Amino acid sequence: MTPMRLILLGPPGAGKGTQARFLEQRYAARQISTGDLLREQRARKTPLGQQAQAYMDRGALVPDELIIAMMEGELSTTGAFLLDGFPRTVPQAQALDVLLTKLGRPLVAALLFDADRRVLLERLSGRWSNPRTGRTYHERFNPPRVASVDDDDGGPLVQRTDDTPEIVTERLATYAALTAPLVEYYRQAGVLERVDAARPPAEVSQAIVGVLERRAAVVR
Ligand code: ADP
Ligand code: AMP
Repeated sequence: MTPMRLILLGPPGAGKGTQARFLEQRYAARQISTGDLLREQRARKTPLGQQAQAYMDRGALVPDELIIAMMEGELSTTGAFLLDGFPRTVPQAQALDVLLTKLGRPLVAALLFDADRRVLLERLSGRWSNPRTGRTYHERFNPPRVASVDDDDGGPLVQRTDDTPEIVTERLATYAALTAPLVEYYRQAGVLERVDAARPPAEVSQAIVGVLERRAAVVR
């Protein structure tokens, strides 16, 4: 099987993390979520975590050079990966291109998770997550067995402090200004695949598998 090397591209709340969990199992690839990595660094109060904090709390992006340095370390040791939340700017995408060329590991696809604003707001306002594992739930669409308790480890679930209406508005504006240009970037590179992310999780998974079967045959 071709090692999966994917970018999960799309606005906050589109369901990238949810599908990453499914794709990890299906393709034996590792999810690398820059948001999760940064939240871990914050919890450990590392220099990177402390630098990132103020940007994350206001819904802005952490500076490119910090993110690129962090991702170079992650990617050089991972053959099959699902990039969740990276790249988010054109300079990050260019740095990724350079790194993957150097490693001899081309992308299989950049999957664009497409959903409108109403769907994103509904999803983010009901999101609960396990800060220990990154697993997410939704209070209506995908509730845990016991409210605010993780099904797997029995520990508490939390609502992210940046999932408030004000910060979500900022994050969506940041996406539109700095990340949306990557759609054209990857279209021109010939790897963009759009997925209708507004559908139920199992249907989105099925659509992605269809796209990837076609793609992997091309890359092989
Ligand atoms: P992202 O990683 O793109 O920010 P998440 O995967 O965390 O998005 O999903 C955001 C919220 O929406 C979570 O609460 C998740 O449980 C829920 N969710 C994800 N995919 C779907 C879907 N297809 N339909 C309904 N809710 C979903
Ligand atoms: P996420 O978990 O993907 O929603 O990311 C949460 C926050 O982490 C974002 O709002 C940014 O502040 C920061 N972040 C995550 N990934 C990146 C990235 N690739 N570039 C810059 N900032 C990022």
